[in-house]
Amino acid sequence: MINKVRPIDCRHFINGQYVDSDKGRTFDNINPATEEVIGVVAEGTQEEVDAAVQAAKRALKGPWCEFTPNERSNVLRRIGDIILERKEELAILEAMDTGKPYEMALEVDITRAAYNFHFFADYLTSLGTEAYQQDDQALHYAIRRPVGVVGMINPWNLPLLLLTWKMAPCLAAGNTAVMKPAEWTPMTATVLAEIIKEAGVPDGVVNLVHGFGPNAAGSALTEHPDVDAITFTGETKTGSAIMKAAAPTLKKLSYELGGKNPNIIFADADLDEVIDTTLKSSFMNQGEVCLCGSRIYVERPVYEAFLEKFVDRTKQLQVGDPFKEGTKVGAVISKEHYDRVQQYIGIAKEEGGTIVAGGGRPKGEQKGYYIEPTIVTGLTRDSRCVREEIFGPVVTVLPFDEEEDVIEQANDTHYGLGTTIWTNDLRRAHRVAHKVEAGIIWVNTWYLRDLRTPFGGLKQSGIGREGGMHSFEFYSELSNITIKL
Ligand code: NAD
Repeated sequence: MINKVRPIDCRHFINGQYVDSDKGRTFDNINPATEEVIGVVAEGTQEEVDAAVQAAKRALKGPWCEFTPNERSNVLRRIGDIILERKEELAILEAMDTGKPYEMALEVDITRAAYNFHFFADYLTSLGTEAYQQDDQALHYAIRRPVGVVGMINPWNLPLLLLTWKMAPCLAAGNTAVMKPAEWTPMTATVLAEIIKEAGVPDGVVNLVHGFGPNAAGSALTEHPDVDAITFTGETKTGSAIMKAAAPTLKKLSYELGGKNPNIIFADADLDEVIDTTLKSSFMNQGEVCLCGSRIYVERPVYEAFLEKFVDRTKQLQVGDPFKEGTKVGAVISKEHYDRVQQYIGIAKEEGGTIVAGGGRPKGEQKGYYIEPTIVTGLTRDSRCVREEIFGPVVTVLPFDEEEDVIEQANDTHYGLGTTIWTNDLRRAHRVAHKVEAGIIWVNTWYLRDLRTPFGGLKQSGIGREGGMHSFEFYSELSNITIKL
């Protein structure tokens, strides 16, 4: 299968058709694992964004608005089914675009993308709203309507997974959409457009414009007066730029932003379990997951034992070719990002840190943006590597002595996305979980998700929540109807 799937050139998808950019403008798509140009991508401008938004606006009044919730649910289920039928192909394209291991793309990204549609297909059919009887005077009940045209701006780290996490509830609630994938990862979104059409979604309901962010397709979408809501996942500073751009037209906003998540390990935790999961929470997807626990705090009595085992297991991780069986860490997304992560490793050394694992390129790889999984010790809590989001395969490990002190360190950041706590002391687990400032808190696990639960960040890690009912809160508007009795 891997040899049969070729990378694709990526065109926009507007009103049910693939189209080129005006004057045929394109940019290159580069495979980060080989540094080769694997295709071209249409470079969207304000004109294409406008055409996509107008198509989405018209589609709100077209056949789509006649679909009952049950019919929408059936269409969503079909989209999920087709994703599963094409899962190997999608996983290959995702691995080529991102540099992530194919096995991870298949098991995590694409499987979850299909599940996003299956989950919201089911959730939709059991959705209710509020109703109140006010003595014998009146009956009040709320009805749910779509918000309208939703602009979706996505990052490159989990391209199809995060796009479908937005698209499924957006369609479930009856909206129309214009998606803009990250410029680095255009392929699976391009295929998704075709899948959505094949599943029976009317033309114009889902549109796609490729291109860049600032002063390009991204900002054209966020400024467009006919876009009613923007759902954005990406960097905190981009969120701030989008908020400014969206302000004049008062768009509804949902934000999933950056993180610098603590992984707190108490001495009573089961160390083998801690190590198995911490390898994933540190280096899964090359550390390019917003939820990665890149600040590891270990209670002093087990600090040395933890470090020894963690370093040993990290050095055993297979790094390199995303398509080689058993690869756990692939290439980071781009040359730019590779340089940025390497720069942070340099900063760690300048700040007095010791690189106890990794720090360079894996042996034997001549091409590709590969970075060995890297562990840094000996830094202070004020160092830049402990405080700033690196978003690569680099973690810091610091010892701690007191529960109160580790909570203070964990919270000493403007981020508030995720936290993992390792302890077998039930009371401490609850106590610490209540005090850490994060939207997603795991005890003795990591990345265990139930899509009904609220997902999102505190502080500068996000605005709003996604998941189950919370997604419907964003993708629909409630109108209250009062009937006098
Ligand atoms: P990014 O903010 O650079 O880009 C994300 C998207 O925004 C891209 O499609 C880009 O083209 C677009 N964009 C950039 N500037 C824009 C502008 N001014 N106007 C409109 N669009 C613009 O983020 P990234 O580098 O692609 O992704 C990595 C970041 O995403 C990390 O900070 C990570 O923590 C975060 N992230 C968060 C979550 C979460 O759920 N909280 C999930 C994944 C990634």
